[in-house]
Amino acid sequence: MSIRHQVARVLPFTLVASFMASAAAAQTSDAALEHARRVLRSTPLIDGHNDLPWEIRKSKTAPRDVDAYDLRRRVDGQTDLDRLAEGHVAAQFWSIYVPGEVKDSGFARIQLEQFDIARRMIARYPDRLALALTADDIERDFKQGKVASLLGMEGGHAIENSLGALRVYYDLGARYMTLTHNVTLAWADAALDSASHGGLTEFGKEVVREMNRLGMLVDLSHVSPATMSDALDVAQAPVIFSHSSARAITDVPRNVPDSILARLGKNGGVVMVTFVPGFVSKAVDEHDRLARARFDEIRATVTDTAEARRLMGEWRAAHPRPQATIRDVADHIDHVRQVAGVDHVGIGSDFDGIDETPVGLEDSSKYPALFAELIRRGWSDDDLKKLAGRNLLRAMRAAEATARRLQQTTRPSTRTIDQLDGPRAVPAT
Ligand SMILES: [Zn+2]
Repeated sequence: MSIRHQVARVLPFTLVASFMASAAAAQTSDAALEHARRVLRSTPLIDGHNDLPWEIRKSKTAPRDVDAYDLRRRVDGQTDLDRLAEGHVAAQFWSIYVPGEVKDSGFARIQLEQFDIARRMIARYPDRLALALTADDIERDFKQGKVASLLGMEGGHAIENSLGALRVYYDLGARYMTLTHNVTLAWADAALDSASHGGLTEFGKEVVREMNRLGMLVDLSHVSPATMSDALDVAQAPVIFSHSSARAITDVPRNVPDSILARLGKNGGVVMVTFVPGFVSKAVDEHDRLARARFDEIRATVTDTAEARRLMGEWRAAHPRPQATIRDVADHIDHVRQVAGVDHVGIGSDFDGIDETPVGLEDSSKYPALFAELIRRGWSDDDLKKLAGRNLLRAMRAAEATARRLQQTTRPSTRTIDQLDGPRAVPAT
């Protein structure tokens, strides 16, 4: 625990305020901040995406060791138990991500290892974290003051074209699956890769149907707009975007276009707005585009790597990266509310999946500041509660109800990708 947090705990409120900000600014912000904390004490705050299990896996000092990555202490990363508590986080979808670029084995080994890391991490703090599998679990854990811990798979490549594997991953606790990560699959186009299928193939649609039958949320972050559209056509339950923002404000492929936002009312889904600086700030996005262009230019003309690195360093020194702010994130939340509706917006930080954070949203302790910003913009308590978690709880309950209904009439699918898609031009990934 840092000095700052120890101080914050023992000093009177007014002293802390002057300690952390200038007196004038603190007066108004503290009223909104207190208000935000009141709202978040009364309703669960659910975050759609946090990459802590991957952070533990790749720890430089003790990889995969959940004991060494001690969440009771202040860690170097963006998430630990005290900061989750200070941030009023009631439920967290922990991402059990597997890179789509793995070549040294099938994806199952790494997927299972990520289940293992996440489940050991949750089990290590029984007084603070609890494995959650349903919307009811989230509300139970909130009442008991524990962080409801859900598992979200990131990347449909993990199922290796197998609906049997999908079902077993559900049994292991996965409650959402992002249909793709950054790599286009044999059955779904990714946002950041080639559009090989124009969305979902027939097998891709069968994956969505089987997820609906199981009660696993279909997560459309990372997929192409055509995949989003196809999934919405097929889905019988609400979809989510566990960590995406609005494309109309920051035009990057990872964000959600207005045409898709406009369809969420009918579907009942939720866009959980992410904090990734390049996805929420136009200035950061423009800077990153220029940096990539300069990098390509150097690579095309300079063969010596040391010289190329020196030139890129020179460019970066002359073009410092602008910073995203908490206001940029609030702008995206406002936009999703405006286009999709207040019943379809949530929060999915991507903490521990990002190296840089917006100013004012540095780690898992900062959510109340975001709610304070929205209070200053005129958000009502009822709308803040929807954003915090009620929308996700509603979508999850609807997905659970759909699964119960479908399981009465529909057997587990035994269809294969070969049966549904025929001979494939694209190799299975
Ligand atoms: Zn991601």
